[in-house]
Parts: sequence; C-alpha cells; structure tokens
Amino acid sequence: MDQIFNNTENAFALKTDSQLERAYFLFKLIANQPLVRIGTAVTNFAIKAHLPVESLIRATVFDHFCGGTSEEECIPVVDKMFEKGVCSVLDYSVEGKEEEEQFDATLEKILKILRFVKEKQAIPFAVFKPTGFGRISLYQKVGEGKELTSDEQDEWNCVINRFDVVCKKAHEMDVALLIDGEESWMQDAADDIVATMMRKYNKEKPIVYNTLQMYRWDRLEYLKQLHMDAKAQGFHIGMKLVRGAYMEKENKRAEELGYKSPICISKQATDENFDAGVMYMLDHLDCMAIFAGTHNEASSYKVAEIMKTKHIENHDSRVWFGQLYGMSDHISFNLAAEGYNVAKYLPFGPVRDVMPYLIRRAEENTSVAGQTSRELSLLKQEKKRRKL
Ligand SMILES: Cc1cc2nc3c(=O)[nH]c(=O)nc-3n(C[C@H](O)[C@H](O)[C@H](O)COP(=O)(O)OP(=O)(O)OC[C@H]3O[C@@H](n4cnc5c(N)ncnc54)[C@H](O)[C@@H]3O)c2cc1C
Repeated sequence: MDQIFNNTENAFALKTDSQLERAYFLFKLIANQPLVRIGTAVTNFAIKAHLPVESLIRATVFDHFCGGTSEEECIPVVDKMFEKGVCSVLDYSVEGKEEEEQFDATLEKILKILRFVKEKQAIPFAVFKPTGFGRISLYQKVGEGKELTSDEQDEWNCVINRFDVVCKKAHEMDVALLIDGEESWMQDAADDIVATMMRKYNKEKPIVYNTLQMYRWDRLEYLKQLHMDAKAQGFHIGMKLVRGAYMEKENKRAEELGYKSPICISKQATDENFDAGVMYMLDHLDCMAIFAGTHNEASSYKVAEIMKTKHIENHDSRVWFGQLYGMSDHISFNLAAEGYNVAKYLPFGPVRDVMPYLIRRAEENTSVAGQTSRELSLLKQEKKRRKL
C-alpha cells in the first residue's frame, strides 16, 4: 500500500509537461530560504506600490497553489480533479481583515459558496475560518472568561449569529461545513460555538466539522469529552484532524508569557497524538466523521490501514483524506485511484488578497525542508518518466 504513493504517473496525470516544469522550478525556488525571504519582501513592496506584478504572480505561484480569483474560475480545475476522483473544498483565502463590514462580507461570501456548491458532487464541503467572522482579540477575551463591555457583547452576539447563519444554511443545503482551527488563545471560544452548532445541526448526521490540531497535547481529551456530550445529547461529531500550523507562534507566546506550551514536546509526540486521534475517531464512526488533513505519507497510510483492519470501506462517507491544492498530489491522486474519499483545499480570491496565503505556503515549504525535497524528487521522477 505505501508503494502506491510512488506512482507519479497518477499523481501528476493532470499536469501538462509545461505545468510540471513550472512546478519543479517553483519548488526549487521555494527550497531556497534567502530567496523566499527576498521574494516575499519584493512582492509585498510591489503590491503595496501598485506595480503591475499580478500577471507574474498569477502565472507562477498563484496558478500552482490557487484555483482562480472567483469560485466560477475554479470550475475547470474542480472538474479536472473530479475526473480523477479527487474532490475540492473551495477555500476563500482572504485573510487578516478585522472590520465588521469585512466579517459581514465574508459571511456573504461563504453563503454564496454554499449556494454555489450545493448538489455539486465534486465539491462536498465548504470551509471558513473563525477569524473570518470576528476579531481574534474578542475570541480571546471570551475564551479567557473575561467580562465583556456591552459593545463587545453586541459584537460577540454578531459573531455567534454569523456562525449560526452559515451552519443553518449548510444544514438546509445538506453541504458539510469545515471550520478551520487557529491559534490556541482564540480557539476555546470558537470551540464552544462550534460545539453548540454541532448540537443544533448534527442531529441526523455530521454537517458541521470542527478542527482538532493534534500538535496540542490536550486535544484527545477534548475529543473524548465532546464524545461524552454527543452520546448524552444525541448529536454527531464532525472533525478535521490536522497536526497544526501555528507551532512557532504558540511556543514563542507561551515562553514570552511564561505558561506551559500547549504544543506536544516533540514531533514524535505530535505524530503519536495524531494517530491516537485517528484511532479514536475510527473506533467511533457510529457517531463521528473524520477528515484527515495531512501531507504526511505515514499518517495517510495508517488511516488506510486502520480502515482495512476495521473493515471500513474505502469509500465510506464518514472518512475523508484532505490535502492542499498544489501539494502532495502523490497522496491525493493515488488514494483516489484506490477509491478513498479525497478532497483538496482549493484556495481562491483576488491575487492581491490571497498573497498572505501564498507567502505562508512558500514559508511553510521552506521550513518543512523534507516536504519540499520530497515534492522535488517526485517531480523529477515524473519528468524522467516523461523523458522531459
Ligand atoms: C486539508 C488541510 C487542512 C488544514 N487545516 C488546518 C487548520 O484548520 N488549522 C491548522 O492549524 N492547520 C491546518 N492545516 C495544516 C496542518 O496543520 C499542518 O501544518 C500541515 O499539514 C503539515 O503537517 P502534516 O500532517 O502534513 O505533516 P508533517 O510534515 O509530518 O508535520 C509537520 C507538523 O508537525 C508538527 N510538528 C513539527 N515539529 C514539531 C515539534 N518539534 N514538536 C511538536 N510538533 C511538531 C507541526 O504541527 C507541523 O506543522 C491543514 C492541512 C491540510 C492538508
């Protein structure tokens, strides 16, 4: 089974020769840390100075990591991936806005996406980030149990209402809804809202999915506690399991403020915690559904292995694998070829607005050196196979 990930013909079947060359060139650039730093600074400057760099960005990083500037523009990519059995999750990747009008605009956008994906088999999930609906400092204050001023209370009611409007719509439209996980200091308040939404809208089946970041040592306990509530109150749990994207930030803050870091003590501890989460969820599929968001081959392999030993069908609707568009195609397309449910996050949005997302991808790939060299060696292998 682990051999299946080496099939580069499947992995890159959708890439033309020139797209393959572009991907190789891109990952070569990204592997170079000083270059990424300079590139990021130059691009930020160029965008702020309104220099005409958008077409250059589009032709390079943007088209590799994003589906388009609007949901409609993503459709050719969505359709092509679906021909190979890989689904999409349209991810409106505009980040870092902190005004009420902006939160309302994001809400409208997510509602539009829900209407857009309704009954599209190729797009079985919608997704949003809690900080798309409210200020991070407000989540933090609520999570810390501090008293809110009356203005803040009004603002918080609006945040809860935004969650409720999208979850209700997702329920009405029968589209599963993933809610991303973010920094631990805002996550408690978000978790409480999402649990309330699960109670309301997951009565018959999992529609609302929260995210468990398994680099946090307390998440398995959290899952078990939620499971007890679910059993007692009769609702289903939808969970995206990931390792977590904010490790450096988390450790730094914990050290600066002098509290115990919420992050596992080592990569191995995170890996074991992730596996334990997978195992727990697959053990309780009677009331749970899992979306394993990972680029880790061993984890993906393990999920598939456990499914096999538990006689869970590859295509069971309660088990999904997820990767990001532009990364780890060897996992996505080879799993799909074996009949597993796979969905790739397909980011989209105006080029300028998705720049923070793209910069994170470049930085992440630079810091996860192993992953970039793996992408490079797979691309090289496929170039060789095609005699390019
Ligand atoms: C479809 C999808 C959705 C995602 N959604 C979210 C989300 O909602 N929220 C979010 O935070 N992230 C999200 N991520 C990102 C994810 O959390 C990881 O950062 C990323 O996928 C890398 O982890 P990995 O499992 O692919 O593999 P690996 O490359 O094996 O793991 C790297 C990860 O391991 C952990 N790690 C590394 N070193 C250490 C160490 N010394 N000690 C402890 N832990 C360590 C970190 O979490 C690091 O990111 C998502 C990823 C995917 C593919």
